[in-house]
Amino acid sequence: MTDLLAAPSTLPQERRLVTEVPGPRSRELMGRRNAAVSAGVSTTLPVFVERAGGGVLVDVDGNSFIDLGAGIAVVSVGNAAPAVVEAVQQQVAAFTHTCFMVTPYEGYVAVCEELARLTPGDHEKRSALFNTGAEAVENAVKIARHATGRQAVVAFDHAYHGRTNLTMALTAKNMPYKHRFGPFAPEVYRAPMSYPFRDAPGTTGAEAASRAIAQIEAQVGTANVAAVLIEPIQGEGGFVVPASGFLPALADWCRQAGAVFVADEVQTGFCRTGDWFACEHEGVVPDLIATAKGIAGGMPLGAVTGRAEVMDAVHGGGLGGTYGGNPVACAAALAAIGTMRAQDLAGAARAIGDTMLPRLRALAERTPAIGDVRGRGAMVAVELVRPGTTEPDAELAGRVARACHAAGVVVLTAGTYGNVLRFLPPLVIGQDLLDEALDVLDEAFAAPMPPLTSRPPASPA
Ligand SMILES: *Cc1c(COP(=O)(O)O)cnc(C)c1O
Repeated sequence: MTDLLAAPSTLPQERRLVTEVPGPRSRELMGRRNAAVSAGVSTTLPVFVERAGGGVLVDVDGNSFIDLGAGIAVVSVGNAAPAVVEAVQQQVAAFTHTCFMVTPYEGYVAVCEELARLTPGDHEKRSALFNTGAEAVENAVKIARHATGRQAVVAFDHAYHGRTNLTMALTAKNMPYKHRFGPFAPEVYRAPMSYPFRDAPGTTGAEAASRAIAQIEAQVGTANVAAVLIEPIQGEGGFVVPASGFLPALADWCRQAGAVFVADEVQTGFCRTGDWFACEHEGVVPDLIATAKGIAGGMPLGAVTGRAEVMDAVHGGGLGGTYGGNPVACAAALAAIGTMRAQDLAGAARAIGDTMLPRLRALAERTPAIGDVRGRGAMVAVELVRPGTTEPDAELAGRVARACHAAGVVVLTAGTYGNVLRFLPPLVIGQDLLDEALDVLDEAFAAPMPPLTSRPPASPA
């Protein structure tokens, strides 16, 4: 096991196209997919995957793609990471499920111990495990309401928190997440985000926080606020990095207001931004932290971790679920966390940022449509606009993404206006592969694909 924690993927780490994209076998499967799978489930890049590992995805036609999406920030340790595979195989052969609420098992407890060690703050902590990010966020809200006896939850412009009824209400963007799916859960309020590219020039984090807090106090009322919920760097919203001072000011306000400060680190957590958690960058200690995505190397797992007195406020049986903290997912999480530690994947994320941000800034210098380059660690993005304005250009984002896909690089779009290209490589991606992906991106901006007659599909999460 110790050796496996440092083991690389055995799959050749290369970009190699042997057919057009998508190839004939993928097109055939796409036909079956369209006849069997709901049209409500979208596809960013219609190539069917056969194998994946390290920084590549290999499709059923034998094409090998450089992966700058990591399954939306999930396979940070690499796809089919050797230690994760071994841990899953051992656990699945021992037992697959008991339901932790019926008869417990050690793996669940060990994951909660790791969460207590790794999350910010040295206070006493407890965790509860679930299956998805939305479930984690939803439970964080339940816990905050129960612990405070209050109902109002504050979320932010451009926020993404999931697709369940409560998390749809917390999510800001109508299409595709909310459109015609209402009515939404009540007692959810939206406050203005700190968005340096779109705020008045020079707006500080403290000023943006004052603006948000004034709105909360006036429209919700301090005494009604159970929780302030925020992504420390917004994910689906377009990798919006708030101005420094914004998050600490909100956390301070919560402390004074008796509200629970909840960090949704579902996308930012587990080394993605160059720290174990993005909140650490400004020394912010959330009361509750929701995690999922990168936690378990691709197995479904979500968690809420936080102050013991808040987490333990809930009556026995108030939290849980049949599958929450499934033993196979817990085994995968322990192996993924071990891999992050053994390979210093937080350091790897910082190195990825150190490669990508200067390259993207150089690209922006010669590309007037790139209005902003931002991000931290291995969570970086470019926002595309009509040159010289802040007017979003989603069409160009779609064209550049398609050009990258056609050239063998998986990139994702994001943003309330759909005009952001976001990059989330596996943290184990090799330097050569990353450099090559950036070359492809340069070429895609030099000659983006022709416009689509219909809109490109919206990004998945
Ligand atoms: C993806 C995401 C979620 C939802 O997670 P699911 O596992 O898809 O339910 C919630 N919050 C953030 C910040 C996310 O990026």
